[in-house]
Amino acid sequence: MTITEEERQTLLSMVEDVAGPEVREVTIVLLTYKGELTDEIIAEELDIKLNQVRKALYRLHDLELADFRRIRDKTTGWFIFYWKLHPEKIGSLVSTKQRNVLERIKSRLGYEEGNMFFVCDSPDCSRVTFQTAMEQDFICQVCEHRLESFDNTKIIAVLQKKVSQLEEILH
Ligand SMILES: [Zn+2]
Repeated sequence: MTITEEERQTLLSMVEDVAGPEVREVTIVLLTYKGELTDEIIAEELDIKLNQVRKALYRLHDLELADFRRIRDKTTGWFIFYWKLHPEKIGSLVSTKQRNVLERIKSRLGYEEGNMFFVCDSPDCSRVTFQTAMEQDFICQVCEHRLESFDNTKIIAVLQKKVSQLEEILH
């Protein structure tokens, strides 16, 4: 399975983003060797502990980017794990992640659209919902300044734009 340089970059940055730098290093080794590798070879190659390599490999397995064959060593009776990377699956990981981001933005948008907000004039205090403002008699509990209504139409516009951009990518 060959992948383009662009796919390789996407894969590595996504793996690092989701699973951390160590999993990225393990991914690079698997990409370099292409075929199957044992956890021991990867540990030697990276000069890190075997259990760290295994943790990274299971993380890749969770992300459906790697799988393994298990074979019992006839002499020792121990299992040997042969790991293989599936870099071509990065596409579905990317869209899963984008779908999650879309859901989060949509729920934030729903919150912005479904509430009225109030703020005081101090930049360090945070805004509150109408319900909270009412309970506090429209006085900020931090600085005790008056709470005034806050216009969130710009926030809503930004969120709506993000939603339509992501929906365009995903459909
Ligand atoms: Zn305040």
